[in-house]
Amino acid sequence: MGFLHFDDSMDIIDNIEIKNYKKSKRYLTDTMGYILAQDITADYNSPEYPTSAMDGYAIKHKDLELKRLKISSINPAGSELKDEVVDGYCIKTFTGSLMPKGADTLIPIENVTVDGDEIIINEGVPYGFSVREVGENFAKGDKLIKEGTRINFTDIGVMASLNIVSPLVYEKPSVAILSTGSELLELGEIQTNSAQIRSSNNYILEAIVKKYGGNPIQLGCIGDDKQTILDMIKDAISSSDILVTTGGVSVGDFDFVKDVIVELGYEVLFKGVRVKPGQHIMLAKKDDKFILGLPGFAYSSTVTALLYLVPLISKFQKSDFRIEKVKATLKEPFAKRHKKAEFTACNISILDGEYFVDFDGKKSGTSAILTNMLGSTALLVTSEDDSSKEVGDRVDILLLD
Ligand code: AMP
Ligand code: MG
Repeated sequence: MGFLHFDDSMDIIDNIEIKNYKKSKRYLTDTMGYILAQDITADYNSPEYPTSAMDGYAIKHKDLELKRLKISSINPAGSELKDEVVDGYCIKTFTGSLMPKGADTLIPIENVTVDGDEIIINEGVPYGFSVREVGENFAKGDKLIKEGTRINFTDIGVMASLNIVSPLVYEKPSVAILSTGSELLELGEIQTNSAQIRSSNNYILEAIVKKYGGNPIQLGCIGDDKQTILDMIKDAISSSDILVTTGGVSVGDFDFVKDVIVELGYEVLFKGVRVKPGQHIMLAKKDDKFILGLPGFAYSSTVTALLYLVPLISKFQKSDFRIEKVKATLKEPFAKRHKKAEFTACNISILDGEYFVDFDGKKSGTSAILTNMLGSTALLVTSEDDSSKEVGDRVDILLLD
């Protein structure tokens, strides 16, 4: 299998179909950030009855000309009032109280003077003033929130007002994360020889999975031993939806992961993409389970996780989420050196609502340089067909915040 054009690898991701979506009901206040798996339709009118929007007196509008009205009763919010407003009378009514029968208008307290058991009208109001009509907020049968919506605070509020205690949502896929490499040290592990390096990949991936809607299962680091890798992968994938590995997918002597994937009977969707950083990326599938093999270098595994893992996670929630791409203007030239799709760390600034890009302080070197992604960084996107860019050129960038 030759290396794929980057766009073709993205098409493969696009065309992935999950056969059996996992959905479950979650308690409303635990659904923030989940994707709704049902339409939310109003099953009543809000408000169901004409309701007062201010504190004041419920009146018949035509009685305004009388200038003086008798107060017949008082109508606090939450009480079911039997009394009716009759000619020449008013009922004291509060914000959120149902409008009493017979009344069509609310005159606010600010517009009247109370004189014993009467009000004197100082300033009139138009017909229907401060009365919330039936269905003002929503009407019975209105589709208020569509399936596929990422639940935000307003959705939670609207569902609460509909008494939806446990909406149906797509479950977040569980993503097992495993870094391979005999040189790797986990957080806190004591170094015993100078060839060891501190692993960052599995921790970055855990953070990415959390940020972009998956449930991470952190498996840490394991050495480049074929049997250990095989056992670990088998075990990990049996209890997760996605297994993402880093390291061990290039052509080095100890790069076993790719063999192991085939041994487990996974169908390889692609292996190797003309993309920088990355290149040695493998995606394999069996039923609704996926193994994504990412390269070992920290910058490479981070960028390729954003490109491939993030949309894959969203697939499990029937969504085609991608890292947001926007237009920006180059403040510095960009030399295109590789005939590959490239994702280059750049600084972004915003001036008059426009994004600008420069490369101040960005080191050139290998894909080990993770620190290039610190700060206010985006990824400049160029395709394998692009040539070098000049100052002022409009380019695409991926936003990481
Ligand atoms: P590999 O893809 O396994 O050949 O690894 C490529 C490079 O990335 C090597 O220099 C590794 O030491 C480094 N590397 C591999 N795994 C990690 C990791 N988990 N964290 C940081 N660097 C890594
Ligand atoms: Mg390795």
